[in-house]
Amino acid sequence: MRTLLIAGNWKLNPTTVEAASALAEGVKNGLGAATDVHVAIAPPFVFLTQIDGVLSGSPIGLSGQDMYWENSGAFTGEISGPMLVDVGCTHVILGHSERRHGQGETSAQVNAKLKAALGVKLIPIVCIGETKDERLAEQTEAVLLEQLSGSLAGLSPEEMAGVVLAYEPVWAIGTGLTASPEQAQAAHAYIRGWLTQVFGEATAARVVVQYGGSVKPDNAVELLSCPDIDGALVGGAALKAADFLAIIKAGQEVTARGKS
Ligand code: PEP
Repeated sequence: MRTLLIAGNWKLNPTTVEAASALAEGVKNGLGAATDVHVAIAPPFVFLTQIDGVLSGSPIGLSGQDMYWENSGAFTGEISGPMLVDVGCTHVILGHSERRHGQGETSAQVNAKLKAALGVKLIPIVCIGETKDERLAEQTEAVLLEQLSGSLAGLSPEEMAGVVLAYEPVWAIGTGLTASPEQAQAAHAYIRGWLTQVFGEATAARVVVQYGGSVKPDNAVELLSCPDIDGALVGGAALKAADFLAIIKAGQEVTARGKS
């Protein structure tokens, strides 16, 4: 069984370094030294250095929420992979729907960022997922195909095995609507099938594919129990340490029980 990864995407929250530190502290204290489930948090860039200090001695990974494909230069407002590494990051979220849809980010741009992230040994969490209109028009698989083939182009099987994917149906992000376990598993099975076709069965079996979209303490066990769901990318519920810890606990329960 793949080790589950529960990651918290804090987005543009909280607004002070004190609040960010307190949240990270709460997650750190609640998790302790447990490593049966992998955990990462993605605070805003400006808090990363401080949070890296808070997380010292903890197995919790630290993630950027995005990065640029160039390492340095005249790119106002951007943050690079080497900068993330320098402030203690282990992971980076790429192609989140709020960037694909809010900022017009393309799969080709996500691919350039992905290669830059792999170049500095960050673990990339590459997000893919369809909008509500695309699902209603039965285009979910076509959208996933474009995002998978565009975002992951040119990777070797070994590189692919080190990439985390996050299936996040856009209609479920921050809306309180969650994909049913059947809907989520169907999308994850499609993703696993595509990975098998392109990278081979052994590689596909190693890739961690998270689900994201209104994951909460009360739906986490059901979702994480699905055979092809290997963790969760959590937005809103990651902003309360107790809720995030309850989702981690759900992952620990599923791990202890094992999946069929
Ligand atoms: C996300 O930000 O990736 C996300 C899934 O958010 P939420 O859990 O709030 O839907």
